Amino acid sequence: MEVIETEKRDLLDMSFKELNEAITKLGYPAYRAKQIYEWLYSGVLDFSQMNNLPKDMRAKLEESFTTGRVKIAQRLVSKVDQTRKYLLELGDRNIVESVLMKYHYGYSVCLSTQVGCRMGCKFCASASLGLIRNLTIAELLAQLLTIRHDLGQRISHVVLMGIGEPFDNYDNVIEFLKRINREDTLNISYRKMTVSTCGIVPKILEFAREGIPVNLSISLHAPNDEVRRRTMPVAKSWNFDELLSACKEYTRLTSRRITYEYSLIENVNDSQEHAEILAKKLKGTLCHVNLIPVNAVKGIDFKKSSRQRIETFKEVLDKYGIAVTVRRELGSDIMAACGQLRRNNLTKTRKV
Ligand code: SAH
Repeated sequence: MEVIETEKRDLLDMSFKELNEAITKLGYPAYRAKQIYEWLYSGVLDFSQMNNLPKDMRAKLEESFTTGRVKIAQRLVSKVDQTRKYLLELGDRNIVESVLMKYHYGYSVCLSTQVGCRMGCKFCASASLGLIRNLTIAELLAQLLTIRHDLGQRISHVVLMGIGEPFDNYDNVIEFLKRINREDTLNISYRKMTVSTCGIVPKILEFAREGIPVNLSISLHAPNDEVRRRTMPVAKSWNFDELLSACKEYTRLTSRRITYEYSLIENVNDSQEHAEILAKKLKGTLCHVNLIPVNAVKGIDFKKSSRQRIETFKEVLDKYGIAVTVRRELGSDIMAACGQLRRNNLTKTRKV
């Protein structure tokens, strides 16, 4: 009988307890479950490579289970700064992308949370293609584990700033973060994880109550409703004040500093006046502003602000005592910015 792949359960979707049950149900002793669990979280997802398991068991596992079903379809390494961009193929042939960056403190990986995105931000390469589906817990894990295995070194930081809106796939994302934090998996500290949202207010409030000290980034990109609505449709669901109140509530409950991402687009959101409005709104809140020269995306008519305008914008925030940095661009030669490579690949095969 032909086995239909989608009927196989995925071991990465399971907690250790569930995996243990599944393995013992197949007739194997519990220590085998532990061995499999260890292989998986060391990045070995291919049963045939789990060489302390008997050969017939590996075949049986192959027949019964999957392990994320993520394959590296393409890997680009930047000549400028060693940033690696991965194009990953999922079990249903959809693709997502992830970026690995090397910092002085270690490796940081930027992961996707959905296939596509439905948030529709006008400057974003992923938005124009729409949402196809959420990533499963297994796929979120397999993304990280596959890259870890390919790198052959520990990854210390995880940021959810790839394709998709993490808070539109909330439950899987939270379970994923909790899973990689465990001592018996990857033991990554919550403080070294970052979730970025375009501003889904009810989920920010829910996140504030999760009790996990994960960093929160808000993609703000505007000083007020008028500007924000021009580039970010989500601003029509929750206005600027509602978003800011949710952020203040988050800080009140967690005592954690929020990072506001602000991509500077020439003549859209980058004037001195915009900086003044923003500064007045953020003054007195526990925050950090990250200014990002917007990345040019083919077919999208937004230009990067000039160095001069970025500097002036920064000076205004400085003047108000707001912590602000200008983000260093990594991997500029390999289209490392969010969604660019996937979009480029899809547009080769289908018109968008
Ligand atoms: N959906 C989440 C996370 C994914 S995008 C969010 O909105 O936060 C990661 C970051 O890249 C966001 O701040 C997003 O607004 C920003 N971004 C998307 N396209 C960009 C571009 N062309 N130039 C600069 N930043 C961009």
